[in-house]
Amino acid sequence: MLVVGGGLAGLASAVALAEAGLEVRLLEKRPQLGGRATSYTLPDGSEVDNCQHVTLGCCTNLADFYRRAGAAAKIRFYDRLYFADRTGRRSTIEASALPPPLHMAPSFLRFRSLALADKRAITRALLSIARAGGKPKGVDSISMLDWLGQMKQTPGAIDQFWRVVLVSALDEELERTAAQYGIDVFWKGFLAHRSGYRIGIPSVPLAALYDGCRDAVVSRGGSVRLRSGVREIRLCEGGFRSAVLENGSEARGDACILAVPHTALLALLPKEFGQAGGLLEGLQHIRTSPITGVHMWFDRVVMSEPFLTLLDHQTQWIFNKSLLYAERGSDAQKPKKDAVESGGQYLQLVISASYDFVPLARQQIIDLCRAELGDVLPATRQARLEKATVVKELSATFSPELGVDRFRPVQQFGVKDLFLAGDWTQTGWPSTMEGAVRSGYLAAEAVLRCLGGSQKFVQPDLPPQGLSAFWAKRQSAS
Ligand SMILES: Cc1cc2nc3c(=O)[nH]c(=O)nc-3n(C[C@H](O)[C@H](O)[C@H](O)COP(=O)(O)OP(=O)(O)OC[C@H]3O[C@@H](n4cnc5c(N)ncnc54)[C@H](O)[C@@H]3O)c2cc1C
Repeated sequence: MLVVGGGLAGLASAVALAEAGLEVRLLEKRPQLGGRATSYTLPDGSEVDNCQHVTLGCCTNLADFYRRAGAAAKIRFYDRLYFADRTGRRSTIEASALPPPLHMAPSFLRFRSLALADKRAITRALLSIARAGGKPKGVDSISMLDWLGQMKQTPGAIDQFWRVVLVSALDEELERTAAQYGIDVFWKGFLAHRSGYRIGIPSVPLAALYDGCRDAVVSRGGSVRLRSGVREIRLCEGGFRSAVLENGSEARGDACILAVPHTALLALLPKEFGQAGGLLEGLQHIRTSPITGVHMWFDRVVMSEPFLTLLDHQTQWIFNKSLLYAERGSDAQKPKKDAVESGGQYLQLVISASYDFVPLARQQIIDLCRAELGDVLPATRQARLEKATVVKELSATFSPELGVDRFRPVQQFGVKDLFLAGDWTQTGWPSTMEGAVRSGYLAAEAVLRCLGGSQKFVQPDLPPQGLSAFWAKRQSAS
């Protein structure tokens, strides 16, 4: 069994199939596993994530994958979310003992950066999502911004609440986001189950999460080969025959899962796949959106929270990497070079849907972010910035635009012994680690079905609780 691509989709399918008893050979082009969710070492020895990645309590398949990979203890979950407005004023959001969907209500009512009229509007819209069990009617052909307009949301509610949550969750502007994708974020993350919103952050560099995947595959007779890019997939009599590697060698297998990004897939296949009427024609219509990560090392401690969401700024998140790594469990791998040991602090900033940053020079981005940090972390104004680096990911995620789902192929897409995996395949989820793992599990299930098996890997969503459970049941009965 071949798996091409060692991102989360490829790793999830490889681990699941190895555990099911198959001999898996995984081929990855780069020198490390993890794809977009990985880390690497800078020339000076600092280990940086490609970009900070976070999970939420509602990501049940990613949690299952981390367990299988032996990485669950390297993810720390936080129950309190921290926000800072333009003036640096802080608010927090956390669950109370009230049943969903009311569990966040007390901290939401105390939230200092929203006016009463904003809160009233937001409550109305959130209740309409909850009462519809996450599936309000009439949202299939409108954007999130249109839906917010229909729900009579105030400008403050849109800018300080909906945009803040959704642009970072979906990596897209509200006017380009299909309403159902946005509504799902709130239903699954904040309304259905009291743990859905809990934020999980790795306490190690991302690449250290995948050591167990290699063991899972190799201990069952398989192999994991890095720096082994595939340049062509050969078919024979309408089915998979072999993968040709960049070095010209040929890898054969009974079947193959292609788990590369959708932007790289068509180049590996005969060209009719992407042509009009071809099986994968739709891939050409899936657009991508950018994320920019800015890494900053200060000479002193400038931040006390583990992370902070910014309102009213272009910078959306600040992660206190020194603190997040310091809170790692005893078994977790230590980054090679740690700013905290030298008395300084390492912060990572994230800007999703960073279209405005794409044309900017790196130094301009650093200057802009540094000025914004001064608003919310005053200590940065006096601190010396010892080092900074910018990572622009131009095709970070697929854009959750209206109609994108009709271009996303299923994992068993109609070629014998050839399967697809990747966050861009049909999973019901946006472009996330959870979506990637779901796709890998779905591909693994499809492979086993073809061999006559019926093993399932995909985990159910968190079950709705409280009033949300009542409303969801009523909705599915209607
Ligand atoms: C900057 C950034 C921030 C993000 N933040 C978050 C977040 O906070 N939370 C979240 O859930 N998601 C986040 N995401 C999205 C998440 O990273 C992706 O959805 C997920 O990692 C996709 O996994 P994948 O396996 O589908 O694809 P990829 O990770 O792209 O994996 C594909 C793999 O295939 C390999 N490959 C490509 N071509 C070949 C070839 N010819 N031969 C062999 N191998 C090949 C690649 O090297 C890569 O390893 C973020 C993404 C980015 C870029």
